[in-house]
Amino acid sequence: MKCRIVLGFDPNMRFECVKCGSCCRTTTHNIVPLQLYPQEVSRIRDMGYRDSIAYIGRVHYIRAVNSHCIFLTDDDLCMLRLKHKWSPVNCRLFPITVKLINDTFILNMNWEYSSKVSCKGFGLGPTIAERFKDIEELLDEIAEYTTYSRNAY
Ligand code: SF4
Ligand code: SF4
Repeated sequence: MKCRIVLGFDPNMRFECVKCGSCCRTTTHNIVPLQLYPQEVSRIRDMGYRDSIAYIGRVHYIRAVNSHCIFLTDDDLCMLRLKHKWSPVNCRLFPITVKLINDTFILNMNWEYSSKVSCKGFGLGPTIAERFKDIEELLDEIAEYTTYSRNAY
């Protein structure tokens, strides 16, 4: 991890996802409001899900149907994870959001969307500081996507 990291929240906050699937349900413009990276868009299309991506305001998102992510199963599981053992990095990072500006990752808590979907993970499990290695791995993934994009232009 070569980039600097700036946190916009208290790292001593506890959070553990209880896999309730609420963040996979949304009615916001018929999309899941978590941005996809271009490489993820290609990956999803290569998996054969050609009509599952929306492009709004120069940003790619996963489509929502009947108020939930197109990939959410009837059992509230992620079909991408079930069938392909993979899901977009911002799904895995939620409720943390990230912006990469120059060589600095700016991490914030997505209070607006987590409150909208009544995310139940706050106050549970280890502190964010204790699981920071996992978060750094996700940031490495994002850095790779971004470096590739930078070199491609
Ligand atoms: S809403 Fe929160 S607790 Fe529920 S699946 Fe999403 S991140 Fe996990
Ligand atoms: S891709 Fe999977 S994890 Fe992401 S919102 Fe859809 S169902 Fe949830």
